[in-house]
Amino acid sequence: MEKYINYEMCKKCGGACCKQNGCVYLPKDFKSFEPSEIIKELDKGKISISGQPVNFYNNKWTYIPYLRARNKGAEIVDLITYGGPCINLTDSGCDLSEDKRPSCGLLVKPTKIGGPCKRMKEDVGMQWLEYSGVLESLIKFYTNKNMIDVIASQISEKIVEIKKKENNNIPLSEMEKLNILWYCGIIVNRPYYGPDEVKKMMLIY
Ligand code: SF4
Ligand code: SF4
Repeated sequence: MEKYINYEMCKKCGGACCKQNGCVYLPKDFKSFEPSEIIKELDKGKISISGQPVNFYNNKWTYIPYLRARNKGAEIVDLITYGGPCINLTDSGCDLSEDKRPSCGLLVKPTKIGGPCKRMKEDVGMQWLEYSGVLESLIKFYTNKNMIDVIASQISEKIVEIKKKENNNIPLSEMEKLNILWYCGIIVNRPYYGPDEVKKMMLIY
């Protein structure tokens, strides 16, 4: 996989992208997908189970869980994230060596100080779809709830907080604006299909 590094430019920038959100891993960043191995990684405190909603067919939506560099103050299960800064961001840049960095971070080509920088195309969702079962079981392990119920409760929490901010004229972060777009605009009133159903449907379509 190609990787893009420009220490000089990112130093001048101060990590605008890392302040916005921890970058996303690809499955190949992990030696094993045995749940016990992933639990060991998660319990080190630097990675969260996160993910994103995806429109996949005719207004249906699903949620593809994946692993991301944890955001400061975020929980292990951070499905509807507040965003960054990333826990690995220090005053001197990313704390992780290049070989330990999430692959999606290395796919961002530094092109503009302050960002947004160009992201190289990689089908992240499709790569993670294969591992959704493992991640859903880990969500259950940590929260004792099914993934969709965690999504629903985290959306409700975030919407309440966003409304409070709006009522007090407190500006919203980029992630909060995005959350409103995604979660109020796209998800509400559309049918949800779990990743397993999506995999089956993809075999049909
Ligand atoms: S926003 Fe661009 S220039 Fe700034 S740290 Fe990120 S990749 Fe580097
Ligand atoms: S892991 Fe490193 S490169 Fe990725 S968001 Fe965090 S600080 Fe930035």
